[in-house]
Amino acid sequence: MRRRESIQEALDRSLVERRDFLRFCGGLMVAAPFGLPLTSGKSVEAIAAAIGAAKRPSVIWLHFQDCTGCSETLLRTSQPDLEKLLFDVISLDYHETLMAASGHQAEQALRDAMQHNRGEYVCVVEGSIPTKDRGQYMKLAGRPAMEVLADVAENAAAVIAIGSCASWGGVPSSGPNPTGAVGADALLSNKPIINIPGCPPNPYTFLAVVLQYATAGTLPALDALKRPLFAFDRLIHDHCPRRAHFDAGRFARQFGDDGHRKGWCL
Ligand code: SF4
Repeated sequence: MRRRESIQEALDRSLVERRDFLRFCGGLMVAAPFGLPLTSGKSVEAIAAAIGAAKRPSVIWLHFQDCTGCSETLLRTSQPDLEKLLFDVISLDYHETLMAASGHQAEQALRDAMQHNRGEYVCVVEGSIPTKDRGQYMKLAGRPAMEVLADVAENAAAVIAIGSCASWGGVPSSGPNPTGAVGADALLSNKPIINIPGCPPNPYTFLAVVLQYATAGTLPALDALKRPLFAFDRLIHDHCPRRAHFDAGRFARQFGDDGHRKGWCL
């Protein structure tokens, strides 16, 4: 097994500014699993110290029946620093659409990533998995997607199903579901699995889960649908910055009207 560098070592190597990293650590979702109030600089420093000392978690990212929108959401966040920081914080050892390798080189990259981080890597699943007719509707290197998933998940520390497709089938499973598409959870047993649904999902929730695993070796508490409680314990409606207008009965009736310009409930 290769020595894995710490997150701080990776940040230093990439010349990441300290203040950018602190801003990243002070993000609500990143900080959520640490349970520290973000009212003081000290808490953010404590979170930064814990994240910096952790080994970069190895991530093997599998693509199945997807539109790659879940990957896109990580790469096009509203905070421009996040996409840069992401690749210093996690070790993305296999990702078919981002890696330069293809063909036999890509297959070897997957085998290497699994072997070097056996039992420790996080397997991320994007997209649903076709099961009908022995899974023949999607093959990778000649193997059905079902088989690849079972193989990679077997030696993973945990599986994260990112997006609605990977969580419970999503768009590819809509009627009449010609490929028998299902989410990862329907195929994997005896393996911790975290669902982060959404189309696309929230990238900060994903990062928070991976960082909790990297720093504490634990996974977040989950609800009945295996979603992280810290992110799914309330409705989007409860977080909405326009919520006060909803409560007061102030609604935009059409685009460009007075209510819309004033930021009322949509
Ligand atoms: Fe695309 Fe949405 Fe499926 Fe993600 S969940 S792969 S964004 S369709």
